[in-house]
Amino acid sequence: MSIATMPGQIWFLTGSQGLYGDDILGQVAAQSQEITKQLGSTGDIPWEVVWKPVLTEPGAIRRVLLDANTDDACLGVITWMHTFSPAKMWILGLDALAKPLLHLHTQANVELPWGEIDMDFMNLNQAAHGDREFGYIQTRLGLARKTVAGHVSDPAVSARIATWARAAAAAAALRGGRLARFGDNMRNVAVTEGDKVEAELRFGISVNTYGVNDLVAVVDSIAGSDVDALATEYESTYDVAPELRTGGERHESLRYGARIELGLRSFLTSGGFTAFTTNFEDLGGLRQLPGLAVQRLMADGYGFGGEGDWKTAAMLRALKVMAHGLAGGTSFMEDYTYNLVPGHERILGAHMLEVCPTIAAGTPRLEIHPLGIGNREDPVRLVFDAAPGPAVILGIADVGDRFRFIGNEVEVVEPDAPLPKLPVARAVWKPAPDLRTSTEAWLTAGGPHHTVLSTALTSEHLWDFAEITRTELALIDGSTQVRRFIQELRWTQAYHRLATR
Ligand code: MN
Repeated sequence: MSIATMPGQIWFLTGSQGLYGDDILGQVAAQSQEITKQLGSTGDIPWEVVWKPVLTEPGAIRRVLLDANTDDACLGVITWMHTFSPAKMWILGLDALAKPLLHLHTQANVELPWGEIDMDFMNLNQAAHGDREFGYIQTRLGLARKTVAGHVSDPAVSARIATWARAAAAAAALRGGRLARFGDNMRNVAVTEGDKVEAELRFGISVNTYGVNDLVAVVDSIAGSDVDALATEYESTYDVAPELRTGGERHESLRYGARIELGLRSFLTSGGFTAFTTNFEDLGGLRQLPGLAVQRLMADGYGFGGEGDWKTAAMLRALKVMAHGLAGGTSFMEDYTYNLVPGHERILGAHMLEVCPTIAAGTPRLEIHPLGIGNREDPVRLVFDAAPGPAVILGIADVGDRFRFIGNEVEVVEPDAPLPKLPVARAVWKPAPDLRTSTEAWLTAGGPHHTVLSTALTSEHLWDFAEITRTELALIDGSTQVRRFIQELRWTQAYHRLATR
């Protein structure tokens, strides 16, 4: 069962003022209810869009925004100034708002009724200047928000709102989330370090370490009958190597893999964790490095990072929530090695074992191979190629005084040839705009080697998530130029040191 789903609502707030009188305000209410209904009926937004009564005075504005803060069901707030809502009325409410904000710049009608327009129509349909007044006050207050302009019947409008809603849900899922680290970081590695206190303040997720033998105790306590049942499930779900099947000479290794999965799942479920890390340097009494178990838990929506990488694990959890229900998959990933043939440059990404099967093309093979690291028994793992398609990659680095996201738009492609001797799951991709620019920009930004790769999400999801969490995003896309990118990093560094909220 997936842990990626979460209940929630998006609140729809309409601004106006008392001067219009009850007749006009009644029409404003009816039209904003209609727009709320249209947004909810597109099917794009996975959560209910909830209409709230039209706001005409500061007390009610402040009250509804405080209510948004305290209602856990409220993932974010959409605002629309149907008519002119003098924005000083919004100062105290907006200043108190702690939930994600989207300013929808729309109007009730698509076409101007040229032959019919009179001053009554002009009086009723004033978002063109009402939303300008509202945009001003948001900028004056320095509010993070997304602004979406257009009629709600335009599919691009509802899609962009849905993208923001998904980012808002991911931010909500991180807040109060718990991440379990089994062991610390891989020794001497720099980029997987970071400020866990700042992470809990910025993203809301608590990151704590557990002795790996606490996990081993749970793994060892799993009933043999449960292990057998899960091993049987593997045999019907994957293309399982004959030596691992029931009666095969290495079936016991598959059973131990199932035991690890059941133990890990039990530990995470009972502790309320939604993300975790492992470290091959610290396996305690585990007989195998967890491979298959990690892959299957990722597929169920858990965040994961190898070698103690809790920052990537937290981001994988966030992107799993963001991508829930969308076509495509989302996985832990690591840049491994390149094809540098001119004009045919590729990145081959993989990990020791832990790539999520949601990105797989076809049915994964379940295999066992030696692992020259970790000094344990051979681990079972799912092996596959990633399905081709457009994708985004997200990395996170602690740059000293804050976190920085580094993103890249990429195209996952088929491998040029089969990889019969590579015993791990992998993805091959072409980074935008080209491998040289992408890697020079990535390295200049201090981007990590561990990332999240998603074929379900776009860079707009990443922008919205960065805005909501007020985190820098250095995005490498089709228009990136290295010299310009270096300058942007310098400007944004100055910005983030000056920004006060
Ligand atoms: Mn790694």
